[in-house]
Amino acid sequence: MKYVLVTGGVVSGLGKGVTASSVGVVLKACGLRVTSIKIDPYLNTDAGTMSPFEHGEVFVLDDGGEVDLDLGNYERFLDVRLTRDNNITTGKIYQSVLEKERKGDYLGKTVQVVPHITDAIKDWIESVSAIPVDGKVGPADVCVIELGGTVGDIESMPFIEALRQLFFSTGPDNFCLIHVSLVPVLGVVGEQKTKPTQHSVRELRALGLTPHFLACRSAQPLLENTKQKLSQFCHVSAANILNIHDVPNIWHVPLLLRNQNAHEAILKQLALLRVAIPPNLQEWTNRAETFDNLTSSVKIAMVGKYVGLTDSYLSVVKALLHACIACLLKPSIEWIAASDLEDESAKLTPEVHTKAWETLRNAACVLIPGGFGDRGVKGMILAAKYARENKVPYLGICLGMQISVIEISRSVLGWKGANSTEFDEHAPNPVVIFMPEGSRTHMGSTMRLGSRRTLLQSSDCITAKLYHNPEYVDERHRHRYEVNPEVVEHLEKTGLRFVGKDESGQRMEILELASHPFYVGVQFHPEYKSRPGKPSALFLGLILAATGQLEAYVKTHQNGSI
Ligand code: GLN
Repeated sequence: MKYVLVTGGVVSGLGKGVTASSVGVVLKACGLRVTSIKIDPYLNTDAGTMSPFEHGEVFVLDDGGEVDLDLGNYERFLDVRLTRDNNITTGKIYQSVLEKERKGDYLGKTVQVVPHITDAIKDWIESVSAIPVDGKVGPADVCVIELGGTVGDIESMPFIEALRQLFFSTGPDNFCLIHVSLVPVLGVVGEQKTKPTQHSVRELRALGLTPHFLACRSAQPLLENTKQKLSQFCHVSAANILNIHDVPNIWHVPLLLRNQNAHEAILKQLALLRVAIPPNLQEWTNRAETFDNLTSSVKIAMVGKYVGLTDSYLSVVKALLHACIACLLKPSIEWIAASDLEDESAKLTPEVHTKAWETLRNAACVLIPGGFGDRGVKGMILAAKYARENKVPYLGICLGMQISVIEISRSVLGWKGANSTEFDEHAPNPVVIFMPEGSRTHMGSTMRLGSRRTLLQSSDCITAKLYHNPEYVDERHRHRYEVNPEVVEHLEKTGLRFVGKDESGQRMEILELASHPFYVGVQFHPEYKSRPGKPSALFLGLILAATGQLEAYVKTHQNGSI
């Protein structure tokens, strides 16, 4: 196995994840098979319990792993399916070491950070990098490892030490270290400053790791003399100083690396030049340029709870982007805090309330993404009602589907007490209920997580047509509550159709409203499997419907062609 380690210095938020995935893209374009590992030095065992407000969205994998959103970047960029073990956290490592200690596996020895924690990290990396993630057999050629955080952080020390040892044991031909850093421009003189990079490289070297490459983030392209200075003071040859300056969209980053011949230098470092082919990045070039030249856009109202931090819905945003670009449109996402639509907000903050409704009414479609807890639920119900009554294209994801069911039960069936037991345990009409897959009394985790099968009930529905008429779809889930099977019959009398169910027929997976141009609710999260060149069927449907192209699309593609 050959490793490319990507570390970061100076400040966080430099786009280390995008840099690392772009390196992967370029290597893949050279004909190599690539996998990736993200190391998060925090103590949480996984991202499942972390607030999207603070940490951005929780990304969900096929195997049900709740992981850092950077893994989503890798899946989208490299078009791979990662496993939960591809995300290493301090919590997971300590948990595995402590379990072994309790079992007595250390034979009475003192258990220490070095060597026990560091050995566990190395073993984990070695075994996970061998798991194929691209659907082929056998391990990949290269594993890109991204070390989260900034070099010098106390919590990343054991990882740095383990990686240093890994480097030493695999040998120089099998290891390539890329250090991502910042070259800021200061003040009136406008000089590109190399000092922060010098300091962070010094810090890295003090820990025993010498970078082979610098990937310098900057606003403008690096000047020649800045490169020379960096080379001299950081002990990295000028040819290995890569520059990732600001670009109009992230799909340019692999192209930027290719244009600087980064692939050749990396392949040389890994002794892979002979097996690689010249990189083919035509698809990336087309996409990056197409996007830059788009002139029309489509307004999408996103009615959610965490609208302050757009990373909270990163995969939804990306899926909208993929769908829009397939329709040659730029997404114009209008964020609406669900609570601003509520009647209480009309009293307390009338201007905010008016503005929120204005934004909703001006949008071409409405999307209610997933979420937990009852904040903003009233506002979401109002948004779903607005979309239903005014025939505005609507996509409800997970919580968004449950909201539809509550809304229709209240407004159409007249069940005033309709609610989810998540929001009111004693709801008079529990239309959305807790339906654990395992035992109800079982103490452990009760979330329905990861890939589950949905059987399409009929080929005569919009969803089936958009997915090109398969018997089933496998999409990723992350929820506890579901439509109460006992009320399905009543709901279907209102014109609601449950066109997708699980294999038992008890779990409602997809709903559609017959008398509406596009009103779809899904219990799963289609956003997680959307890819730049392969937009998710339902997101595509939403955008097509919003721009009046759905019918024509369905007609042209009814034979299953793309
Ligand atoms: N809170 C809801 C549930 O647990 C919806 C979850 C979600 O939208 N991801 O079922």
